[in-house]
Amino acid sequence: MTTATETRITDWLAARKDAMVDLLREVVDIDSGSYDKTGVDAVGARFERFFEEHGISAWREHHDVYGDAIHALVTEPGSNEKPVLLMGHRDTVFPKGEVSRRPFSVEGGRAYGPGVADMKAGLVMNVFVAAAFKALGGMPCPIRVLITSDEEIASPSSRPIIEREGRAARAVYNSEPGRPSGNVTTGRKGGVFMRFDVYGKAAHSGGNFTSGISAIGEIAHKIIQVHSLTDLARGITLNVGLVSGGQSVNTTAPHAEGQIDLRYIDPADRASTLAAIQRIIDTPTVPGTTAKLEIKGEFLPVVQTPEAKAIFTAYQAAARDAGLATLDGEFSGGCADSGFTASVGTPTICGVGPVGGNAHTVEEYLEIDSIVPRAQALALAILRTQVD
Ligand SMILES: [Zn+2]
Repeated sequence: MTTATETRITDWLAARKDAMVDLLREVVDIDSGSYDKTGVDAVGARFERFFEEHGISAWREHHDVYGDAIHALVTEPGSNEKPVLLMGHRDTVFPKGEVSRRPFSVEGGRAYGPGVADMKAGLVMNVFVAAAFKALGGMPCPIRVLITSDEEIASPSSRPIIEREGRAARAVYNSEPGRPSGNVTTGRKGGVFMRFDVYGKAAHSGGNFTSGISAIGEIAHKIIQVHSLTDLARGITLNVGLVSGGQSVNTTAPHAEGQIDLRYIDPADRASTLAAIQRIIDTPTVPGTTAKLEIKGEFLPVVQTPEAKAIFTAYQAAARDAGLATLDGEFSGGCADSGFTASVGTPTICGVGPVGGNAHTVEEYLEIDSIVPRAQALALAILRTQVD
């Protein structure tokens, strides 16, 4: 059952489907790989213009290396309630030039283009939901919008901003794409991305074999040992996904390096697994080798607390009223910024964005007809937020 205010908001959103697709086309057609500050900031500037056009106050937090963070706020004058936070990233995994090869396109009800689902459609949805409340009012608490710049590389510049804004919020909706099933994401694995270096000693492997120490021989042992920490029953996986080393075929390798991807479900497994990896790195099998380990990036897990379950149940009811009858929560092994807000203790739901699939590939698609109902579900969930 929806109230008159709710109907005004959902009707406002339904009437803006074409405007949402137009904005999506504009932002997809700007290259914005994570390391392309100019491109990422250009997408940010387009959203700033949107906020300005809709009378929404917005500001940016500068960063020298990565794109700036974009903030916006919609509130009733004098409200001192804690806000809800609508979050999303505008960087993509695609290189500069991708847009000219395959710009935004629509075929058979699906939109295509770099970052169309992951997650420019979610950002478009977030800003239109904010604009609906700016135009019509009725929100029980302030709405904060945060558009970050570097999620695809584990948010080196955005993480402290996300944690700060997450702590200040009563609930976080992260608009990563909805699962292909239409479900949202209520749990995510944590991920730690590491690099390790192994050092040996170069020698001619024909003439002087016995003075050599092979870093490649050692890294082979370490890879097997690291992989053996995988415990599928506990949801712990280890993958050495990159490896290189050596100097020439007839030299014992003075150096080898690899990169490790650790995923886990239970926050307690992070420290114990990292300690086990460190022991492997510190303990040579090939005498005379040394090694070091470095964490390069990290995402924290999304654990469904009772509070998070409560906002999911409320969101699910809102989604039902927006016509999404079968929407449920799903666990994903993939990581996202939602782990940072969940880990500071703020109830978080992820994957509330429009529905899409095949992220990070040229087959990435977005279900165009999911944009409006997902926006309506989010708006209804915000309207029904319980404030004390
Ligand atoms: Zn994403």
